[in-house]
Amino acid sequence: MNRVRQFKPEEPWQAPEEEPIVRIENVTKRFGAFYAVDDISLHIHQGEFFSLLGSSGCGKTTLLRMLAGFETPTSGQIFIDGQDVTNIPPYERPVNMMFQSYALFPHMNVADNIAFGLKQEGMAKSERQDRVAELLSLVQIEQLAKRKPHQLSGGQRQRVALARSLAKHPKILLLDEPLGALDKKLREQTQFELVNIQERLGITFVVVTHDQEEAMTMSSRIALMHEGRIEQVDPPRRLYEFPSTRYAASFIGSVNLFDGYVVQQDDDQVLVQCDEADSLLQVRHSQPLVPGMAVTLALRPEKVRVLKDFDEEAPNQLRGQIKEIAYLGDVSIYHVQLPGGKWVQFTQPNVQALAEQPLTWDEEVTLGWSANSCGVLTE
Ligand code: ATP
Repeated sequence: MNRVRQFKPEEPWQAPEEEPIVRIENVTKRFGAFYAVDDISLHIHQGEFFSLLGSSGCGKTTLLRMLAGFETPTSGQIFIDGQDVTNIPPYERPVNMMFQSYALFPHMNVADNIAFGLKQEGMAKSERQDRVAELLSLVQIEQLAKRKPHQLSGGQRQRVALARSLAKHPKILLLDEPLGALDKKLREQTQFELVNIQERLGITFVVVTHDQEEAMTMSSRIALMHEGRIEQVDPPRRLYEFPSTRYAASFIGSVNLFDGYVVQQDDDQVLVQCDEADSLLQVRHSQPLVPGMAVTLALRPEKVRVLKDFDEEAPNQLRGQIKEIAYLGDVSIYHVQLPGGKWVQFTQPNVQALAEQPLTWDEEVTLGWSANSCGVLTE
């Protein structure tokens, strides 16, 4: 979980004076009595690569389809570039959508597929040819212009669909699982190409995906959705390092969760009593928490260190026995059982020389971590 897209320091979502290109205000979509999207408010800024991430059925496609205009909200409003588009049909919105199925016309060659929308809006032939050439070059398939869709690989078809959806210079491109039909290797390669194209064009991309690694690699920000609601919106690294809810912590990567209650709150740190731990747990945390309040601490496996000795006075320590080891090549995952039965995971990079004594099954270990490494979940 270390391939996270690095964004410039001047993130637009931190500039409140800037008008977002998409404003979703209290949008709900009901199908009968079922809330597919439940009172969502969300701002997306110009030039973002914004992902809607969540498990199957959480409402991400419904939200994307409302942005495209294929569904109308039951209540709430959608603004694009300052204009209320809630009741405006798809073809009058400055957006385009790339479907998961690509929806290419089988009887037309690649160039004609890409030119289709331009021809429909009456663009002159020579201008159209220039635009198609530009798009073919953008997605690097110039040599395939005369082929029909059935003569293309899955990856090539995806490029044609992308070129076609960009043809009319949409302000926002909506992509529904854009890499879903590609195999794993091609998907990883294509993730970077998609980000490159998006950065070059400066168009806002809103992407639906259920693949957390894909969202982490490509996005400026991710909205994590759960049962029609938004659980957390943050840049990938923040979502991973500082999940704000139990669901967010468990959805992205692996996590150890400790339930306890606050025993002391100082300026920027809090002490938590947890029955499963050998010591008090200390966390850096700037939000005021009241003593006695129930909290859950989230600790990522890679933040845990093996300590030489147990120190009675020090916080953030656990003692247990290694019960399982999974060797993954670059890292190993260790499963430790605490005396009370709780399982804790930690990872270690496999950097030690073969001559060094590695950790082994049934070994008693003391685990520790710094106060900066743990997150506090209050929901
Ligand atoms: P997936 O990743 O599986 O596509 P999703 O997060 O995109 O899931 P949606 O397609 O937005 O989920 O669907 C959200 C919920 O709304 C689902 O329970 C789905 O069955 C329901 N739903 C979607 N469209 C309709 C419809 N036209 N009529 C009734 N229910 C619908």
